[in-house]
Amino acid sequence: MLYIGCHLSSSKGYLAMGRQALDIDANTFAFFTRNPRGGSAKAIDPEDAAAFCTLAEENNFGKLVAHAPYTLNACAADENIRRFAREAFADDLERMEATPCNYYNFHPGSHVKQGADVGIDLIADCLNTVLKKEQTTTVLLETMAGKGSEVGRTFEELRAIIDRTNLSEKLGVCLDTCHVWDAGYDIVNNLDGVLEQFDRVIGLDRLKTIHMNDSMNPLGAHKDRHAKIGQGHIGAEALIRVINHPTLKGLPVILETPNDIDGYAEEIAFLRSNYSD
Ligand code: FE
Ligand code: FE
Ligand code: ZN
Repeated sequence: MLYIGCHLSSSKGYLAMGRQALDIDANTFAFFTRNPRGGSAKAIDPEDAAAFCTLAEENNFGKLVAHAPYTLNACAADENIRRFAREAFADDLERMEATPCNYYNFHPGSHVKQGADVGIDLIADCLNTVLKKEQTTTVLLETMAGKGSEVGRTFEELRAIIDRTNLSEKLGVCLDTCHVWDAGYDIVNNLDGVLEQFDRVIGLDRLKTIHMNDSMNPLGAHKDRHAKIGQGHIGAEALIRVINHPTLKGLPVILETPNDIDGYAEEIAFLRSNYSD
C-alpha cells in the first residue's frame, strides 16, 4: 500500500484536511501544528479531531506527519528562542494526542556558531524536557540539507541526538530526499548504499517517513531548495525507485514540492501510477 499525501492547510481543522486529502487521492498528509513562521496555535476542537479519526480509519489512512514550526530552534544560542522551542514543542505534543499515534516531525535546529556538538546537546536537552512516557506520538528528527549551521546534516549527528535522549523509544527519523541529496547522500546512483549507511549508523527501524522532493541543486550543494518531482537534479526515476524500494515500502510519503493543490494531485497520481504493490 502506498501511503502518500502532501502538506495541507490546517486552518479549517482536521476533518477538512481529511476530506481534502480524499479529494486528491491522498491517504496521509502533513500539516503545521501552528503558524509555521510564528508562534500561535489554535485550540483543537475535540469533535473535529474525533470526526477526522473516524474518516481516517474508514479510508485506511496511514500515519499523519505533523510538522513543527520552522521558528522552533531547540539549539539556538539565545535562551529565549530555546524557551519558545520547549514551550511550543511540549504544547504541540499535548495537542497531538487529539489524534493519537501519529508522527510529529521537527528540524533538529541550527547551532548558530556554537558548533554541532553543543547543538546536539541542546537538542537532546530539549527532548529530555518535552518527551513524556505517556505520549502516543513518535517524534521524528528530519534529515537536513546542512545549509548554514543546521544540525542533522549527517546520519551520525542524528544518531548522537538519539543517543543523548532518555526516552529515545519515542524518536524516529524522517528522510527528506531533497535534504539528504543536498547533504551529499547519493540516492540517485546508490540508494542501497545510502540505506545501508542509514542502517549502520541509525538503524532502519527508526526510519518512519519519507519527505518526497526533487532538488534544484546538485549532490552535496547544502542548499535546500525543493523542486517538483522530475524537475530537479534527483529526477523522477530515482524518486520512483525510492517509493518502490523494499525497505521503504509502507512508510508515509509526504510531498513538499512547490505546488498548489492541483499540482499535488497530479504528483500523487503520477507516483501512484508508478508504484507496484
Ligand atoms: Fe521539514
Ligand atoms: Fe522536509
Ligand atoms: Zn527543505
